[in-house]
Amino acid sequence: MRGMTHPTTTGTLRIQSFTLGPFATNCYIIFAEGDPECWIIDASFEPEPMIDFIRTNTLRPSRILLTHAHADHIAGLTEVKDAFPEARVAIHPDEVSWLSDPVANLSAAQGLSITPGPPDETLDDNQQLTFAGRTWRVIHVPGHSPGSVCFYSEADGVAISGDALFAGSIGRTDFPTSDHDTLITAIQRRLYTLPDNTAVLPGHGPPTTIEREKTSNPFVRAQ
Ligand SMILES: [Zn+2]
Ligand SMILES: [Zn+2]
Repeated sequence: MRGMTHPTTTGTLRIQSFTLGPFATNCYIIFAEGDPECWIIDASFEPEPMIDFIRTNTLRPSRILLTHAHADHIAGLTEVKDAFPEARVAIHPDEVSWLSDPVANLSAAQGLSITPGPPDETLDDNQQLTFAGRTWRVIHVPGHSPGSVCFYSEADGVAISGDALFAGSIGRTDFPTSDHDTLITAIQRRLYTLPDNTAVLPGHGPPTTIEREKTSNPFVRAQ
Protein backbone atom coordinates (compact mmCIF):
# COMPACT_ATOMS: atom_id res chain seq x y z
CA MET A 1 0.00 0.00 0.00
CA ARG A 2 1.22 3.45 -0.90
CA GLY A 3 2.31 5.73 1.91
CA MET A 4 0.24 8.82 2.52
CA THR A 5 1.42 12.16 3.75
CA HIS A 6 -2.02 13.48 4.57
CA PRO A 7 -4.35 12.16 7.25
CA THR A 8 -6.88 9.81 5.80
CA THR A 9 -10.55 10.05 6.50
CA THR A 10 -12.62 7.04 7.42
CA GLY A 11 -15.92 6.70 5.64
CA THR A 12 -18.52 9.40 5.25
CA LEU A 13 -19.00 11.53 8.32
CA ARG A 14 -22.47 11.34 9.79
CA ILE A 15 -23.88 13.79 12.28
CA GLN A 16 -27.13 12.81 13.95
CA SER A 17 -28.93 15.60 15.76
CA PHE A 18 -31.34 15.27 18.69
CA THR A 19 -33.47 18.14 19.94
CA LEU A 20 -33.98 17.41 23.62
CA GLY A 21 -35.66 18.81 26.69
CA PRO A 22 -37.74 21.89 27.60
CA PHE A 23 -35.25 24.28 25.97
CA ALA A 24 -35.13 22.33 22.66
CA THR A 25 -31.39 21.89 22.96
CA ASN A 26 -29.62 20.35 19.98
CA CYS A 27 -27.26 17.52 20.93
CA TYR A 28 -25.23 15.66 18.34
CA ILE A 29 -23.72 12.24 17.73
CA ILE A 30 -20.83 12.21 15.27
CA PHE A 31 -19.54 9.07 13.63
CA ALA A 32 -18.09 7.80 10.39
CA GLU A 33 -19.69 5.04 8.36
CA GLY A 34 -17.93 1.74 8.92
CA ASP A 35 -16.36 2.79 12.22
CA PRO A 36 -18.04 2.12 15.59
CA GLU A 37 -16.37 5.04 17.37
CA CYS A 38 -18.56 8.07 18.01
CA TRP A 39 -18.53 11.37 19.82
CA ILE A 40 -21.43 12.80 21.77
CA ILE A 41 -21.71 16.58 21.80
CA ASP A 42 -23.75 17.90 24.74
CA ALA A 43 -26.24 15.92 26.82
CA SER A 44 -29.50 17.71 27.53
CA PHE A 45 -32.59 16.73 29.50
CA GLU A 46 -34.17 13.38 28.58
CA PRO A 47 -31.21 11.96 26.61
CA GLU A 48 -32.75 8.49 26.09
CA PRO A 49 -33.14 8.90 22.30
CA MET A 50 -29.40 9.51 22.02
CA ILE A 51 -28.58 6.52 24.17
CA ASP A 52 -30.97 4.36 22.15
CA PHE A 53 -29.45 5.53 18.86
CA ILE A 54 -25.95 4.63 20.03
CA ARG A 55 -27.06 1.18 21.18
CA THR A 56 -29.16 0.48 18.07
CA ASN A 57 -26.23 1.34 15.82
CA THR A 58 -23.71 -0.43 18.11
CA LEU A 59 -21.59 2.70 18.32
CA ARG A 60 -18.87 3.15 20.89
CA PRO A 61 -18.69 6.68 22.37
CA SER A 62 -15.10 7.69 23.10
CA ARG A 63 -15.85 11.25 24.18
CA ILE A 64 -18.65 13.42 25.47
CA LEU A 65 -17.68 16.92 24.37
CA LEU A 66 -19.45 19.83 26.06
CA THR A 67 -19.88 23.14 24.24
CA HIS A 68 -20.46 24.77 27.64
CA ALA A 69 -21.91 23.92 31.04
CA HIS A 70 -25.35 25.54 31.04
CA ALA A 71 -27.98 23.22 32.52
CA ASP A 72 -29.70 22.52 29.20
CA HIS A 73 -26.44 21.13 27.78
CA ILE A 74 -25.43 18.99 30.77
CA ALA A 75 -28.72 17.88 32.36
CA GLY A 76 -28.42 14.40 30.82
CA LEU A 77 -24.69 14.05 31.31
CA THR A 78 -24.87 11.73 34.31
CA GLU A 79 -27.34 9.44 32.54
CA VAL A 80 -25.24 9.33 29.35
CA LYS A 81 -22.01 8.79 31.25
CA ASP A 82 -23.62 5.99 33.26
CA ALA A 83 -24.71 4.35 30.00
CA PHE A 84 -21.24 4.71 28.44
CA PRO A 85 -18.72 4.97 31.29
CA GLU A 86 -15.74 4.64 28.93
CA ALA A 87 -16.66 7.92 27.19
CA ARG A 88 -14.45 10.75 28.41
CA VAL A 89 -16.21 13.97 29.39
CA ALA A 90 -14.40 17.08 28.18
CA ILE A 91 -15.02 20.79 28.74
CA HIS A 92 -13.14 24.10 28.64
CA PRO A 93 -11.19 24.81 31.88
CA ASP A 94 -13.25 27.95 32.60
CA GLU A 95 -16.36 25.86 33.25
CA VAL A 96 -14.96 22.77 34.98
CA SER A 97 -16.25 24.01 38.34
CA TRP A 98 -19.72 24.67 36.85
CA LEU A 99 -20.26 20.91 36.58
CA SER A 100 -20.48 20.93 40.38
CA ASP A 101 -22.13 24.36 40.81
CA PRO A 102 -25.92 24.61 40.29
CA VAL A 103 -25.85 28.42 40.50
CA ALA A 104 -23.15 28.80 37.86
CA ASN A 105 -24.71 26.23 35.51
CA LEU A 106 -28.14 27.89 35.93
CA SER A 107 -29.91 24.75 37.14
CA ALA A 108 -30.59 26.40 40.53
CA ALA A 109 -32.61 29.09 38.73
CA GLN A 110 -34.90 26.29 37.49
CA GLY A 111 -35.25 24.82 40.98
CA LEU A 112 -32.87 21.97 40.11
CA SER A 113 -29.47 20.90 41.31
CA ILE A 114 -27.60 19.48 38.32
CA THR A 115 -24.13 18.42 39.41
CA PRO A 116 -22.62 15.75 37.14
CA GLY A 117 -19.22 16.38 38.72
CA PRO A 118 -15.71 16.80 37.32
CA PRO A 119 -14.81 16.06 33.68
CA ASP A 120 -12.22 13.52 32.53
CA GLU A 121 -10.31 16.08 30.49
CA THR A 122 -10.26 19.74 29.53
CA LEU A 123 -10.42 21.40 26.11
CA ASP A 124 -8.10 24.27 25.32
CA ASP A 125 -8.44 26.80 22.53
CA ASN A 126 -7.03 25.44 19.26
CA GLN A 127 -6.59 21.98 20.73
CA GLN A 128 -6.72 19.34 18.01
CA LEU A 129 -8.76 16.21 18.50
CA THR A 130 -8.41 13.30 16.12
CA PHE A 131 -11.55 11.44 15.22
CA ALA A 132 -12.37 9.13 12.28
CA GLY A 133 -9.11 10.08 10.59
CA ARG A 134 -9.98 13.76 10.75
CA THR A 135 -8.60 16.61 12.77
CA TRP A 136 -11.17 18.56 14.75
CA ARG A 137 -10.18 21.85 16.31
CA VAL A 138 -11.49 23.37 19.51
CA ILE A 139 -12.36 27.04 18.98
CA HIS A 140 -12.91 29.11 22.13
CA VAL A 141 -15.85 31.47 21.48
CA PRO A 142 -16.56 33.08 24.88
CA GLY A 143 -19.27 35.63 25.66
CA HIS A 144 -22.47 33.61 26.06
CA SER A 145 -20.48 31.86 28.77
CA PRO A 146 -16.76 32.18 29.55
CA GLY A 147 -15.83 28.65 28.49
CA SER A 148 -18.01 28.26 25.39
CA VAL A 149 -16.28 26.31 22.64
CA CYS A 150 -17.09 25.26 19.08
CA PHE A 151 -15.85 22.10 17.37
CA TYR A 152 -14.61 22.50 13.80
CA SER A 153 -13.64 19.96 11.16
CA GLU A 154 -12.02 21.62 8.17
CA ALA A 155 -12.08 18.34 6.20
CA ASP A 156 -15.84 18.05 6.56
CA GLY A 157 -16.58 21.78 6.51
CA VAL A 158 -18.64 21.72 9.66
CA ALA A 159 -18.67 23.64 12.93
CA ILE A 160 -20.74 22.70 15.98
CA SER A 161 -21.35 26.12 17.48
CA GLY A 162 -23.06 25.54 20.83
CA ASP A 163 -24.87 28.67 22.05
CA ALA A 164 -22.40 31.14 20.50
CA LEU A 165 -23.91 31.47 17.01
CA PHE A 166 -27.42 30.56 15.86
CA ALA A 167 -29.19 30.87 12.49
CA GLY A 168 -30.08 34.57 12.48
CA SER A 169 -29.25 35.06 16.14
CA ILE A 170 -26.61 34.72 18.85
CA GLY A 171 -26.52 33.28 22.35
CA ARG A 172 -28.06 35.19 25.26
CA THR A 173 -25.72 37.54 27.06
CA ASP A 174 -28.00 38.62 29.90
CA PHE A 175 -26.60 36.05 32.33
CA PRO A 176 -24.24 37.25 35.09
CA THR A 177 -21.34 35.34 33.53
CA SER A 178 -22.05 36.52 29.96
CA ASP A 179 -20.47 39.43 28.07
CA HIS A 180 -22.04 40.79 24.90
CA ASP A 181 -19.01 42.56 23.40
CA THR A 182 -16.85 39.51 24.06
CA LEU A 183 -19.31 37.32 22.16
CA ILE A 184 -19.55 39.68 19.16
CA THR A 185 -15.76 39.94 18.90
CA ALA A 186 -15.28 36.19 19.29
CA ILE A 187 -17.81 35.40 16.54
CA GLN A 188 -16.20 37.92 14.19
CA ARG A 189 -12.65 36.77 14.82
CA ARG A 190 -13.06 33.05 15.32
CA LEU A 191 -16.18 31.92 13.41
CA TYR A 192 -16.64 34.45 10.61
CA THR A 193 -13.04 33.71 9.58
CA LEU A 194 -13.93 30.08 8.78
CA PRO A 195 -14.62 29.22 5.11
CA ASP A 196 -17.93 30.65 3.87
CA ASN A 197 -19.36 27.24 3.02
CA THR A 198 -18.81 25.86 6.53
CA ALA A 199 -22.02 24.30 7.86
CA VAL A 200 -22.91 25.59 11.32
CA LEU A 201 -24.82 23.27 13.65
CA PRO A 202 -26.02 25.31 16.64
CA GLY A 203 -27.09 24.40 20.16
CA HIS A 204 -30.62 25.63 19.39
CA GLY A 205 -32.57 26.01 16.16
CA PRO A 206 -31.83 24.98 12.58
CA PRO A 207 -28.45 24.66 10.89
CA THR A 208 -26.94 27.52 8.92
CA THR A 209 -23.67 28.45 7.20
CA ILE A 210 -20.91 30.92 7.95
CA GLU A 211 -21.68 32.77 4.72
CA ARG A 212 -25.37 33.15 5.54
CA GLU A 213 -24.66 34.52 9.01
CA LYS A 214 -21.93 36.88 7.80
CA THR A 215 -24.32 38.39 5.28
CA SER A 216 -27.60 38.38 7.20
CA ASN A 217 -27.18 37.89 10.96
CA PRO A 218 -28.73 41.03 12.49
CA PHE A 219 -26.69 40.83 15.69
CA VAL A 220 -23.17 40.42 14.37
CA ARG A 221 -21.77 41.61 11.06
CA ALA A 222 -18.58 40.55 9.35
CA GLN A 223 -15.70 42.91 10.23
ZN1 LIG B 1 -26.14 28.26 27.07
ZN1 LIG C 1 -28.51 26.21 25.37
